Amino acid sequence: MTISNAEWDIMRVVWAQERVTSSAILTILNQKLQWTSSTIKTLLKRLVDKGYLATEKVGKGFVYSALISEQEAIYHQVDELFDKFCPTKHLDIIRHVITRTDMTLDDIEQLQELLEAKKATAVDEVTCTCIPGQCTCKEHLELEASHG
Ligand SMILES: [Zn+2]
Repeated sequence: MTISNAEWDIMRVVWAQERVTSSAILTILNQKLQWTSSTIKTLLKRLVDKGYLATEKVGKGFVYSALISEQEAIYHQVDELFDKFCPTKHLDIIRHVITRTDMTLDDIEQLQELLEAKKATAVDEVTCTCIPGQCTCKEHLELEASHG
């Protein structure tokens, strides 16, 4: 699943509106972007070709609806993002996200419950899965040293 930033802007409108025409998408996005209707149509066609949007002819125009859920797409984007970083750095990123995320007391209690349950699957050490030379984890430094 690869969704460009421009395509993501369109998907957000479709997820929020559920069923929407290209002209309605243009009206909504022109509050922050200066896109032409042909830009929108190109992006919509790409999203239909990728299987993320369904299109249906209604009167003279087309109505678009999402074929993937917003939550599924968000989780996929986050997984893809985290795959770019060494697993040993993930917790630092999560700490960063927690620090800058607004949370209610209820949210915090739910996170505490999640962490409590997470203890059941705790590992002794987080394993680096990077290829040698792409990160500075201990085992890679040792490997380098053994190769002289
Ligand atoms: Zn690594």
